[in-house]
Amino acid sequence: MVVQPKVRGFICTTAHPAGCEELVRRQIEYVKSKGRIDGAKKVLVIGASMGYGLASRVSAAFGCGAATLGVIFDKPASGSKTATAGWYNTKAFEKFAGQEGLYAKTINGDAYSDEIKAEAIDTIKQDLGKVDLVVYSLAAPRRTVGDTVYKSVLKTTGEPYTNKTIDLRTNEITEITLEPATDEEIDATVKVMGGEDWEMWINALKNADVLTENALTIAYSYIGPEITHPMYFNGSIGRAKAHLLATSHKITENGVKAYVSVNKALVTQSSSAIPIVPLYITILYKVMKEKGVHEGCIEQMQRLFARIYSSDLNLDQDGQIRMDDLEMREDVQAEVTKIWNELTTENLKQLADLDGYQKDFMEIFGFGVDGVDYSADVSV
Ligand code: NAD
Repeated sequence: MVVQPKVRGFICTTAHPAGCEELVRRQIEYVKSKGRIDGAKKVLVIGASMGYGLASRVSAAFGCGAATLGVIFDKPASGSKTATAGWYNTKAFEKFAGQEGLYAKTINGDAYSDEIKAEAIDTIKQDLGKVDLVVYSLAAPRRTVGDTVYKSVLKTTGEPYTNKTIDLRTNEITEITLEPATDEEIDATVKVMGGEDWEMWINALKNADVLTENALTIAYSYIGPEITHPMYFNGSIGRAKAHLLATSHKITENGVKAYVSVNKALVTQSSSAIPIVPLYITILYKVMKEKGVHEGCIEQMQRLFARIYSSDLNLDQDGQIRMDDLEMREDVQAEVTKIWNELTTENLKQLADLDGYQKDFMEIFGFGVDGVDYSADVSV
């Protein structure tokens, strides 16, 4: 069938298999062009189908030559409905890995559940013996534990907060007031996006004796500049990230070296749902592209893998790896702040990289990719 994008707010309900495959192919090509990284050999990637998790899997497989087991939560096509983008990405990844003789298996199910943890452990035991790296890259709106469903919220904390935002349906700069999250909402957000489930994974893997002696584990975080702090760093999601960082120290104390990598703000399915942040990203893209320091998920993760397996991790005072080093550069942030203060609906296209944002957003779902024939009939 001919697949067209159907955008509803910050989600697209269709995905294009050929577009997704082409983008995965390009990620692989990029990683290969950067040369071999002497690092991971057998890797478990939790949240492996999109964004930073997919880029981590590509970096591990095609940078380090690692066998990868992915955990994803995606839907195959059914009837006239396409599969999710993550499903197509994963099929493409498995195809390319297979062509190079790289082991690549994927478990599709809820990573928060005990069943999926057990299935991953069984698969590792059977196929890999042990893994030496565990990447934890989940971004989810909810987590089910027994009969309870915890829902993460993207709210500020303390006082209500008002600032500019972008309405991506009309491309207008509007004002938004964020209400503070309640204590209950903050606790739920920490349950979903904090470190508890990461620690449960590592404990389960350790108890099953499927981690090598020097195994590493890594999870991803974001800090960002002050403009985004009320929404992110000091928001409900920031509380979850603080918990993730504390968990990294706990996991390390318990015998498995755990890192948090603070990554760059990028357009992904998850980040497009956060108020204010998309506007910041449009400005950030403009500034970083002009300065020649812009990176996407794959550039970030290739560089992260090279850094993890180098002798110089260059950790910050909290023990975090800072892949946001270019984003947070003083000259970059000074320019971003200047533009932020001047930005209106009228000068948006000129001062911010709205086109770049929209292109990246459509690419999440495999649309707008050069060289893909979108009028062609494709098997979904
Ligand atoms: P994403 O939406 O692109 O990917 C999330 C992945 O998690 C997908 O593969 C999805 O299928 C998977 N997933 C979600 N729920 C799942 C479940 N229940 N079981 C199994 N898999 C599940 O998100 P992303 O932006 O790549 O975020 C990944 C991590 O990186 C998050 O911790 C996020 O906070 C962090 N991060 C993101 C940014 C950014 O700007 N996008 C910046 C810094 C850090």
